[in-house]
Amino acid sequence: AKDTRCGVRVYQPEDDHDTARRLALMAGLRVAVESGTLTVVYQPKVDPATGRPLGAEALVRWQHDGRPVPPDEFIPLAERARLIGPLTWHVLDTALGECATWRGLGHPLSVAVNLSPDMLTDPGLTGRIEQALHRHDLPAGALTLEITENAIMADPTGARRTLDALHGLGVKLSIDDFGTGHSSLGRLAHLPIHEVKIDKSFVRHIVTDRTRRAVTDAALQLARALDLTVVAEGVEEQDELDYLREHGCDAIQGYLISKPIPPLEFLTWLEKTRTGG
Ligand code: C2E
Ligand code: CA
Ligand code: CA
Ligand code: CA
Repeated sequence: AKDTRCGVRVYQPEDDHDTARRLALMAGLRVAVESGTLTVVYQPKVDPATGRPLGAEALVRWQHDGRPVPPDEFIPLAERARLIGPLTWHVLDTALGECATWRGLGHPLSVAVNLSPDMLTDPGLTGRIEQALHRHDLPAGALTLEITENAIMADPTGARRTLDALHGLGVKLSIDDFGTGHSSLGRLAHLPIHEVKIDKSFVRHIVTDRTRRAVTDAALQLARALDLTVVAEGVEEQDELDYLREHGCDAIQGYLISKPIPPLEFLTWLEKTRTGG
């Protein structure tokens, strides 16, 4: 309900409704974060050439009044309500626990956790991550942090300090939603990053749209030149996978392989890939 005329915001009855919903969601989210009722699902990343599992992305889920609320709706609320810190620590701790389970069963996987822009300026970040890894008896290389390019470009100097510290710890850093932001490839090249993740909006049209294919090709070339890993997200079709594999993409993630799934289902999926089923 956004209607502005001559810079004056005109009152709309649905504004009250939107605001009421946002407030109700924020209150519910606070309870969920504090009571630890948020859950985490896992989406596999696999080698496009062999189908071998490489790791998984942890994605948070929230049921409010018996209905799932999409992360694209509640993550921005969590950021505004200063709940993103506790939410992230919950996801990180849960995901590291799962990762330790996989590795204990003989699957040498890594787990990726999304980091909101605000977290990059938290001076306690690196120390707390180090403690969490230690608690789960995991090497730092088992954790990948996904950070959007916009988060980095919002405060390149501050971000740089944090990224250097995380890199020093041995955590892998991934540029999420690659291609959707406004960063120059040259600036990214100077950061201690390990991986770029091509956004699904590019992957979706890779076979049909020359422009978006060009972005993907450029990312793949840059990555090769810089020794970075390239992950493609949102792979839904076999011809997308074929294209990506033929052009040197290192890992793919998407509904073609699996939707994000709860931990037990993920374990079943893992066992199936081991037996080649
Ligand atoms: P993202 O980090 O870009 O995550 C990828 C999103 O694409 C996920 O949506 C995933 O379910 C979806 N996806 C995966 N494969 C496919 C596919 O083949 N087709 C399509 N159409 N979609 C696919 P999800 O789980 O709804 O998350 C949306 C966004 O919310 C994430 O985008 C991320 O920015 C944010 N988010 C999710 N979990 C967390 C979290 O724990 N912490 C933070 N800070 N943000 C999170
Ligand atoms: Ca992500
Ligand atoms: Ca994305
Ligand atoms: Ca995102």
